[in-house]
Amino acid sequence: MKQKGLHTRLIHGAFDRKSQHGSLSHPIYQTSTYVFDNAAQGEARFAGEEGGYIYSRLGNPTVTELEAKLADAEGAEEAVAFASGMGAVSAVLMHLLSSGDHVIVSEGIYGCTYGFLEMMETKYGIEYDLIQMNQIEDVSRAVKPNTKAVYVETPINPTMKLVDLEMVIRTAEDAGLWTVVDNTFCSPYLQRPIEMGADFVVHSATKYISGHGDVIAGAACGPAEEMQVIRMTTQKDVGAVLGPMDAWLLLRGLKTLPLRMDRHCSNAAYIFEKLSQEDGIERIVYPGDPDFPQYDLAQRQMAQPGGLISFEIKGGKRAAQAFMDELNVVQTAVSLGDAESLIQHPASMTHSVVPPDKRLDMGITDSMLRLSAGLENPEDIWDDLKQALDRVTDQTAGELQTK
Ligand SMILES: *Cc1c(COP(=O)(O)O)cnc(C)c1O
Repeated sequence: MKQKGLHTRLIHGAFDRKSQHGSLSHPIYQTSTYVFDNAAQGEARFAGEEGGYIYSRLGNPTVTELEAKLADAEGAEEAVAFASGMGAVSAVLMHLLSSGDHVIVSEGIYGCTYGFLEMMETKYGIEYDLIQMNQIEDVSRAVKPNTKAVYVETPINPTMKLVDLEMVIRTAEDAGLWTVVDNTFCSPYLQRPIEMGADFVVHSATKYISGHGDVIAGAACGPAEEMQVIRMTTQKDVGAVLGPMDAWLLLRGLKTLPLRMDRHCSNAAYIFEKLSQEDGIERIVYPGDPDFPQYDLAQRQMAQPGGLISFEIKGGKRAAQAFMDELNVVQTAVSLGDAESLIQHPASMTHSVVPPDKRLDMGITDSMLRLSAGLENPEDIWDDLKQALDRVTDQTAGELQTK
């Protein structure tokens, strides 16, 4: 039978409406536990001889529906939902790595992922190396006898630096290593690591998958055999499970993921065009910019350049902060992928714990801002950015005159 398109599958899923009173929307099974017909059934379920639910930390029908849709979206055999992106990241890494193992990690990963690796090293003797992954040798040279996995994030926040997934996956495969890709910035609509040969994909579903800024959630996707072990160990026993109400919010978000991503991307492209004509803007990093150093890779690896843009404003940290304070439509907040356009100042917010010289090495200056293009009318986002830019430029000019 011909497979239906992604839009259709994300809307309908495998949900049998007849068994649910014809309910159009998936029911929220707001329950902690499940009543057995009799003692023998309870015994059979615990023994794994009979399918069916036992207790919501081990499984919940609303969460199951979400997991099926997530696996389908990523082209993975199986997905497991988590209470946060970090719940997913930590569960997969704990599953793959034991004391004495080593993991190769792309430099510039999400701060809490770094924090988690740091803790794993200090407390459990799991080594990690953060490396630039510019060419094959960078990765193959980092492989040690105890290396078990390669962990990659692309694009990297907030510098939008890309990692060539095909190259990394091929190198890891040759060395017999697992690959894990944090696909949060792209969503499965823009980047498909598992189809490229990656073993696992992790997500902060808080971002584009939810898309509405109203839930903290995560997901991990991968081979069924591995995901089942994760489900029964680093999910069940560690316990970062997603609640049914939050799963329902993600089910709703997924229905419009492709539509929203198209709009995030077209709004970002519009803002890029406008920003690039402004004298008050010093540098723009956006994978859709033909002058972006990895433009060709972006074209090859991502279906579209994404909804995020970083840019530097003339006048340093003071101008960057003043600019944010002048905005009305665009909201000053960390996180990304929401209907509302969001802006943040990495040097004083998401990357403030990184030492200043290291930050500069990474390309994060004090005048850099990161914008997550929302779903508003593009002209309104631009009008807001433009009026703030004009005010800040006037202020800076005024200050220069009075000096
Ligand atoms: C936000 C984020 C995370 C962490 O996700 P939470 O849902 O906040 O736990 C991990 N990776 C990336 C790339 C993120 O942006």
